[in-house]
Amino acid sequence: MMAENRDFEMVTKQFEGEIFKHIPLVQQLDSVHQNVVRYKILMENYLKYLPQESEERQEAIKAIEKLGNVSNKVNESVADNEASKILVELHRRLQGRIDVFKPGRKLLMEGNIMKQSRKESQARFLILFTDLLLICKETLGSDIFDSRSYQIPMERVKIVNEEHDEFENMFQVKSPVKSFSFIAKNKHERDKWVNKLREAKLTTKKRNPKPKLIVAEDEDDDDFLPLWIPDRDATKCLMETCTTIFSVVKRRHHCRACGYLICGNCVGKAPIKKRGFSKEKVCPQCFYEIIGEYSSGSLFPESMLHREVGTDGRSRAFAKYGEGANMKLVDASKLFAAPKSGQLRKVPLPSHHRVCGKVHVRVGKGEQTKWAALTDGMVLQFFNAQLVSQSSSWLQCASSIIIFIKLK
Ligand SMILES: [Zn+2]
Ligand SMILES: [Zn+2]
Repeated sequence: MMAENRDFEMVTKQFEGEIFKHIPLVQQLDSVHQNVVRYKILMENYLKYLPQESEERQEAIKAIEKLGNVSNKVNESVADNEASKILVELHRRLQGRIDVFKPGRKLLMEGNIMKQSRKESQARFLILFTDLLLICKETLGSDIFDSRSYQIPMERVKIVNEEHDEFENMFQVKSPVKSFSFIAKNKHERDKWVNKLREAKLTTKKRNPKPKLIVAEDEDDDDFLPLWIPDRDATKCLMETCTTIFSVVKRRHHCRACGYLICGNCVGKAPIKKRGFSKEKVCPQCFYEIIGEYSSGSLFPESMLHREVGTDGRSRAFAKYGEGANMKLVDASKLFAAPKSGQLRKVPLPSHHRVCGKVHVRVGKGEQTKWAALTDGMVLQFFNAQLVSQSSSWLQCASSIIIFIKLK
């Protein structure tokens, strides 16, 4: 219409300029539409609480119908606005569980991705808004998302990616809620996600600046739960000097404090601060670190500790969990169980500056895939998996071996 009628164009521009501070009219209509959809969601929720026979219910149903009609009409007329269509579609797939139309919330990116879990990778659908990341799973046989999607507020996330070839499709999202490892289709797509995630984090931070004094710089890992090292990344216990090779009988365990893969002998128990001081599996190194903090008095906050002098005249410490009627006192010494293997330390994870990667080793007529690392002093070592201890898993080679590296 504007193209056909110069006068109309002029008036529209003037109107947009004066009233809307130069935000185009089409976008304004779009926000009207978003409001209509929002009222409809509100009414639908309201309806759930109304008794079956009430008059109010009949009125509410009529109102929803009207809002639906208005929404459809507006939808048709603003249909060329793609963003709005995508939001309506997401609203449907999320079953209205998340307010995709929330004022100030903008969709930055959405798409399929693989999530690396302990045993394998699983398909997920990521939805990134300026303030929120949703990690969704489709329900079986439909494109509706499972109600148990993770909602990660963007304010406190940390995004990690590595430039190493082996990890070029991967990125990690660490948050106090939970940490995730994702695998994108390729490096290009990975970079796109990482950039958008960083953009979202920046936007949220700018919007909710924290008071200067309380800011703990976000490179501090303390608040984040660790990523679990995937099972296939280690064939043996990742504690130095422990020789346990994992098998059907010798199962893998994960340290809940650092994510390391350890064997049953190396499992200890300790209260983990990041998990509300619940007693959980830990590796020997974490065990001795936590019990050290406990002995020095820096583990529990003062409000959680309670001391009592027993009949024998000795003072005993209790940790206080919960409040009011749910309050529970637990003998602090019972929160610890030392690992059988003793005071072992963790194998350092390979640094990405060193040359390492997958190689194929010809053995007789066959071929084996190994993880090779060129260490300081030009020593080439072979491992069965990426993260195995330096000392115990040399590939014994009598005289010579043939290595070939497959090019992608
Ligand atoms: Zn072990
Ligand atoms: Zn640990």
